[in-house]
Amino acid sequence: MTKKVYKYRSHTQFDVVIVGSGPAGVHAAYPLTEAGLQVAIIDGGLDSKKRTSKPVNFSETDSSTAGHAYDLLRKSSYVFYKTYQLLKIKSDIEIIQSLAKGGLSEIWDGICDFFSKEELEKIGLPADIIQQEYQEVAKLINLKLKIPLDTHGRLILQSAKNKANLKNTVYQLPTAISYRASSSIEDLKRFKNFTYIPNQLVYTVKDKIEYVEIQSFSIDNSVMSTNRANYLILAAGSINTTRILLRSLGLFDYRTTFLTKAHFLTACLNFRTLTKKTNSKKSNFGQLAILSDETYHGLVAFFVQLYRFNTEVLHKSLKYIPLPKVIASMLLSFIISSLVIADIRFPVFESKNKFCRLLKKGDEDVLEISYKENRKELEIHRNEVNKISRQLRSLGLLPLKTVSDYVTVHYAGGVPFREVPTLLSVDKNGKLHQTNRIYSGDSSTWKALPAKSPTLTIMANARRVGKNVLRKFN
Ligand SMILES: Cc1cc2nc3c(=O)[nH]c(=O)nc-3n(C[C@H](O)[C@H](O)[C@H](O)COP(=O)(O)OP(=O)(O)OC[C@H]3O[C@@H](n4cnc5c(N)ncnc54)[C@H](O)[C@@H]3O)c2cc1C
Repeated sequence: MTKKVYKYRSHTQFDVVIVGSGPAGVHAAYPLTEAGLQVAIIDGGLDSKKRTSKPVNFSETDSSTAGHAYDLLRKSSYVFYKTYQLLKIKSDIEIIQSLAKGGLSEIWDGICDFFSKEELEKIGLPADIIQQEYQEVAKLINLKLKIPLDTHGRLILQSAKNKANLKNTVYQLPTAISYRASSSIEDLKRFKNFTYIPNQLVYTVKDKIEYVEIQSFSIDNSVMSTNRANYLILAAGSINTTRILLRSLGLFDYRTTFLTKAHFLTACLNFRTLTKKTNSKKSNFGQLAILSDETYHGLVAFFVQLYRFNTEVLHKSLKYIPLPKVIASMLLSFIISSLVIADIRFPVFESKNKFCRLLKKGDEDVLEISYKENRKELEIHRNEVNKISRQLRSLGLLPLKTVSDYVTVHYAGGVPFREVPTLLSVDKNGKLHQTNRIYSGDSSTWKALPAKSPTLTIMANARRVGKNVLRKFN
């Protein structure tokens, strides 16, 4: 991270500063703001007024990192503005990060899921409290348990109902239609005691015994600023919360946890829709799922989200067809409305082969992320994928090709819950051990990552952490 310092600005002291305006940041802010505290969210993202549809300028990025995520980057440049330059990562897998008002929630379709009691406990979260917070978050984001399905969805669900002996559950995922965390910022701005500070990348944080000092710089002109708060909640997404803390504590070369899911994509043909006209605009993207009826070390053994095709997937699929691109493209457009993508995910636990550490490189630092599956994990996943293929067939879907996908948008770990303090860990309330005023409010604290979609639980936990901080004022 290069920071050219022109000026230095000092700011006021807040009761609570939250770093990050993604789903975690905004839901940590709600209980504190509603209670009347002086709350600020500092975010590295641009204010939405500066939103642009201009594609990312790849000449500014390291071309070796602009790989699989190219389509996403081009489509949503606002969400990824300067991410590759300012949030440097060295890794064999491709990790999607965001610098935006609203974080990564700005580009997805609000598909949510609830974790079971056992899953919450494995992560290190108090199940009873999170289950209550689920209800509060569901109201805030207007979560709908069932919305009408598209043709594919209806046919698949019907097949599942007709098969009395089907092993795994097929169900509809709850959806918060078009929820964007940036809309929560607008909602919070109605409170006079809430301040939104965009465009500021937090660099370091210091626990000064009586207050916390937060150092940031503006992403456009590198002006450094300092803010103070009685309490700080880091919610910059697990990777960037970890990065800020490793840097602030001078923990270079220190290996800490990193969790992301093993991930496979199976393209399937739904024969029954070949003759039916499907209205693609009316379809619900990724709303149907298959859940394993078995567990693996206490977490659901696999989760499959079924997507209708989209042009992005079409573009990706072309390279797997052993035909000239033009012919492959024509062939695909013929069957495209009958394609369903099964997105297969497995849970993950802390292990030596999966870690991250901050490396110092002169004036800059870069976060190294290592994610390797051992032989046993690879074997289990391969066997499960074969079993899932059989299940897909029984639902009327013909699996065509499976590829493993090394692009990740679901991640956790870095600052894990530990009863016995380590150099970088939190207690059960989310407070960083050895400090009195610094908390982590995102998935950096998780000890495991279930196969299901994580964001509803990220929001519920952030609310819980916000309330834990609120108790300090009472
Ligand atoms: C294409 C796509 C589809 C997805 N689909 C789903 C889905 O269907 N269901 C689901 O549950 N999840 C989905 N996700 C994942 C979901 O977006 C994330 O789990 C969620 O956004 C994580 O929330 P967060 O607040 O922890 O982090 P983020 O959303 O990453 O937000 C982090 C915030 O911190 C800010 N920030 C980062 N570093 C700094 C810094 N140093 N200083 C100041 N600010 C900083 C960023 O600007 C951002 O506002 C999807 C993601 C993508 C990209």
